[in-house]
Amino acid sequence: MAKKEECIFCKIIDGKIPCSKIYEDDNFWIMDDANPAADGHCLIIPKKHYSTILDMPPSLGTELVSLAKGQGLRLIKEKKAEGFNLIQNNFSSAGQVVMHVHFHIIPRKAKDGLKIK
Ligand code: AMP
Ligand code: ZN
Repeated sequence: MAKKEECIFCKIIDGKIPCSKIYEDDNFWIMDDANPAADGHCLIIPKKHYSTILDMPPSLGTELVSLAKGQGLRLIKEKKAEGFNLIQNNFSSAGQVVMHVHFHIIPRKAKDGLKIK
């Protein structure tokens, strides 16, 4: 479990590492993924350091869903997406690399051939 001091997303949110920021409010940060699976792939990240969804308070769920819907609609409009995936990995066995909980929004088109790992 990565500590906050070593966490790349905490460093980004604290302004110590640059990123392509899309949005922030008191609780969440949204940025483009540095290695996008598709053009427009972004990450919704709680500002506080929670390692996995097991550590994240359910009270953040309502805002999270609202932000996910907003980003999905934005990708449909701006990137001409026909759909989108909302993906979230917990622990390395499930593919989590950055141990600060985050939610991937990946724009999709019917024949994009994308295989999500
Ligand atoms: P996960 O496998 O769910 O932990 O995904 C981590 C994601 O964070 C990957 O899609 C990475 O491309 C992305 N990522 C890692 N470092 C950065 C960074 N500095 N800025 C933006 N995205 C990043
Ligand atoms: Zn963190």
